[in-house]
Amino acid sequence: MAFDPLSLRSQFPILTQQANGNPLIYLDNAATTQKPLSVINGIQEYYLTANANVHRGAHFLSDRATNQFELARKQVADFIKAPQDSHIIWTKGTTESINLVAYGLEHLIQQGDEILITSLEHHANLVPWQQLAFRTGARLRVLPLTSDAQWQEEFAHYFTERTKIFAATQVSNAIGVQTPLIKMLQHAQKQGAFTLIDGAQAVAHYPVNVAELDCDFYVFSGHKMYGPTGIGVLYGKHHALEVLMPYQTGGEMVSHVSYQATEFNVLPYRLEAGTPHIEGAIGLALACEFLTQQDREALLTWEQALTNLVYLRLQKEANLEIYSPETNSTLISLSVPNSHIMDLNQYLDSQGIGVRAGSHCAHPLMAQLGVTGTLRASFACYNTLDEAERFCDVLLNAIDLLNDE
Ligand code: PMP
Repeated sequence: MAFDPLSLRSQFPILTQQANGNPLIYLDNAATTQKPLSVINGIQEYYLTANANVHRGAHFLSDRATNQFELARKQVADFIKAPQDSHIIWTKGTTESINLVAYGLEHLIQQGDEILITSLEHHANLVPWQQLAFRTGARLRVLPLTSDAQWQEEFAHYFTERTKIFAATQVSNAIGVQTPLIKMLQHAQKQGAFTLIDGAQAVAHYPVNVAELDCDFYVFSGHKMYGPTGIGVLYGKHHALEVLMPYQTGGEMVSHVSYQATEFNVLPYRLEAGTPHIEGAIGLALACEFLTQQDREALLTWEQALTNLVYLRLQKEANLEIYSPETNSTLISLSVPNSHIMDLNQYLDSQGIGVRAGSHCAHPLMAQLGVTGTLRASFACYNTLDEAERFCDVLLNAIDLLNDE
């Protein structure tokens, strides 16, 4: 399975466009990735040949849709090495998955309990825990990881017998660093805490093995890994999913209803109220298939090489601050003391280059870095060396131009 960037890129026709009179360069992949033809065509095929509501049985199309939908669950389970299909709960995305867990565990959280997160979290893995703490009287604690996310022995003290939930990101969306996951999980597990990993920024780049990680919950979004928007996953160990109180109720998630009481369905259905995002699940399974068909190591090496190229060129610039690690990242986050990142963003856009300027839904982390926001260029498997070089050229040009004004 040799990796050929150009042939892979041809599977993403959206990238052949011009943007503002220039060839489009898409470097906002941490926000959402583009979709390969197999995903786009697969969704169309579903609507052309199989569309019906699932799990209602009774006719040809419903059976076909149900089979495809449940096969998708199996493919996603295989993709992250979940032991059983029923450990995969469909959600709208990472945010909904985390909310589902935060509400679902509420009945087990009491005043004085502690919920531990890290200082590198996206708001999606912060606000639901903060609100859970407000509702229950629990205390939200923050493991103070720094920009290099190195584990320090004194962090062990943050994990206590009061720690009931530990939730951490695998990779920071704002600065691209990987967190010391294994160490953190070991300490959380020693205290018997529920553990949740936010894999939103990891799944597109790193093969994930939830059985090996041994976390209680692992969550991610389809749209950041070449799949459709509006579909995501909550993986959970059986007992961890079993203790979650359904935070949405209604059809599909019940086995028997009377006016007096409701009997909930078995997993995974008891946590999936209402008609699911059927074509989204099928599209996500196709995205998993797309990734599985690639040489994952070669893809990651390529993405890291593009990021390193940018890092090496930009680190020589005195008037620019980089917050991402020097190696092994797939994105670069920076600020320029004398220029506003929004102006830089606008200039890059005028040249056809799409990046992201802002706080990246991580206000506390931005405060820790001493900035209100950064400019982030994030890479995917279809990006090229020419694009990485051009990003540097145009950015440096923009800095010169803006400084002359
Ligand atoms: N966590 C991380 C690390 C993310 O990067 C994102 C998306 N930027 C989310 C959570 C939220 O994902 P979604 O908006 O797809 O729910």
